[in-house]
Amino acid sequence: MNTRAAIHSFPVSPTPVKAPKSPKLKVLVPTPSVSAMPSPAQFAAVTDLIKAVFNVPAVSVTLHGAPCEAEGGAYRSFLEIPLSDGGEVIGALRVLDTELREFTDRDCMLLEGFARLVVEQVVLWSEASRDMLTNAMTRRAFMDTLRKTFAARQRTGSKNALAIFDLDHFKSINDTWGHTAGDAVLHTVARLVMRELRTEDCFGRLGGEEFGVILANADGEDAAEVSERIRRAIELAVIPGYEDIRISASFGVADLTDLTVSADAWVTTADAQLYRAKDEGRNSVCVATETSAAPLLN
Ligand code: GH3
Ligand code: MG
Ligand code: MG
Repeated sequence: MNTRAAIHSFPVSPTPVKAPKSPKLKVLVPTPSVSAMPSPAQFAAVTDLIKAVFNVPAVSVTLHGAPCEAEGGAYRSFLEIPLSDGGEVIGALRVLDTELREFTDRDCMLLEGFARLVVEQVVLWSEASRDMLTNAMTRRAFMDTLRKTFAARQRTGSKNALAIFDLDHFKSINDTWGHTAGDAVLHTVARLVMRELRTEDCFGRLGGEEFGVILANADGEDAAEVSERIRRAIELAVIPGYEDIRISASFGVADLTDLTVSADAWVTTADAQLYRAKDEGRNSVCVATETSAAPLLN
């Protein structure tokens, strides 16, 4: 028996092997984290190299408990190494083989080396895709996820909704209390929002005092409920060091429907609702109806 890492092997199985859960997964970045994970493309170079070195048909990376790459095919053996960052297990790296095989100590050492490379990539990616002030995803990372969510629906029919919100009269907060107070507001709002979301949701700063949330397994009604909860939390927010500041935000919500022609159109629909909320007096949530989500004909 190998002493460096467990060797797992399976009997012949006509269905894909379900890999075991990694122990004690610790989130590297604050929740929501899953949608902020690097996509398979980010790992392509290193996973291709691992495939070639181990001569296996598949390599999988699991981060924060969720797989980055589907493990299709019937596998009969695999070798798994935990992905550790500063002593914390953040996921697992696996090589999977359709043949029954014994992995050696040397294989374990090699895969440990590759695991360090993957962790370096994850850390770099997380830093590059996070907004420094709020820890939300950057606009670029958020839009990337939004496009992937749109594309995935074409294949899987998944249910998703988008909420965009913008702080009300934020300029006057800066003007009255100063820019540092404004920054404290943005930081507090982001923390409040993250508390209301699930791991599979995605939260980004779209610019200035405008934010976006992509809700997984949610329709417009669910997203309206979550938005209302966030709106309420923002309304009641106490800003550390600036306890007299009162804030509010306006929300536009749009679910992804058959009428949504593109990721950009999805954003435009939510944006239109955000502007409606602003027009109607702010501090409210407006939700797109099927008609308002339809593409404009002129
Ligand atoms: P509305 O209710 O219509 O959204 O009004 P508003 O004042 O919130 O909107 P406006 O676009 O006029 O002002 C946004 C302000 O946000 C202006 C800009 O200086 C400020 N801002 C943008 N980014 C930051 C930031 O990172 N920190 C701080 N403190 N302020 C920022
Ligand atoms: Mg604003
Ligand atoms: Mg704005």
